[in-house]
Amino acid sequence: MMSQKLRVTVWGENVHERENPLVAKIYPDGMHNTISDGIREGGEFDVRAVTLHDPEHGLTTGILENSDVLVWWGHAAHGKVADAIVERVLARVWQGMGFIALHSSHYSKPFMRLMGTSCSITWREAGEKERLWVCNPAHPIARGIDRYFEIENVEMYGEPFAVPTPDEIVFISWFEGGEVFRSGCTWKRGNGKIFYFRPGHEAYPIYYNKNVRLVLRNAVRWAAGDGVKWIDSCPQISAKDAPELLEIKGPKIHKEGEAGFR
Ligand code: ZN
Repeated sequence: MMSQKLRVTVWGENVHERENPLVAKIYPDGMHNTISDGIREGGEFDVRAVTLHDPEHGLTTGILENSDVLVWWGHAAHGKVADAIVERVLARVWQGMGFIALHSSHYSKPFMRLMGTSCSITWREAGEKERLWVCNPAHPIARGIDRYFEIENVEMYGEPFAVPTPDEIVFISWFEGGEVFRSGCTWKRGNGKIFYFRPGHEAYPIYYNKNVRLVLRNAVRWAAGDGVKWIDSCPQISAKDAPELLEIKGPKIHKEGEAGFR
């Protein structure tokens, strides 16, 4: 039997492309579609693109259930993402859905919730060069990239990047102005693998860059869950169901069969 392709959902807020003529010119089909095209290259993945403006922001229970990886690009409208949808995304990540946060999505609600910190950075818009150094050539996300790759014109992000210490740092960026930044970082939350990837300012054609697209495909492959779901419940095990014969000694204030509180 042919194995099923990994299912990728690309979420884009699709605000700058509608409101800013410069961004609309670079991304006439919307950034979510350009990012999707890059991941679709090579035909390895089933990719769908959704936006903030779709019903339930395009992140219905059904779509999330059928996503192995969710890729997120947001910037101007983080606050417009409904909290109920964020909870739904978090539950799927804990179950095992991969989550890839791009560029300004360091301030997106799902990424901030997953990190639990301010996720702040320093930044500058000067169209300077970025050199992304590979920190671990053996890492699957760096596959096919040489010692480094460069992007000619970018917005700079600099340290300190206020995230928990990453499990792995795959890329570190150097910028023409002298700053450095942990540009490719991984974490695990519950059963879900998370990758943050820095490139992608909306005023530059960064999601057409072949190395950026290669990293995105590598990251999707790496982040995808294995289909095993984390158990998200809090069952009470009665004394008679304990593996050992158990005598009840202490006080018992909860009823038999009562669910966990949440
Ligand atoms: Zn930016």
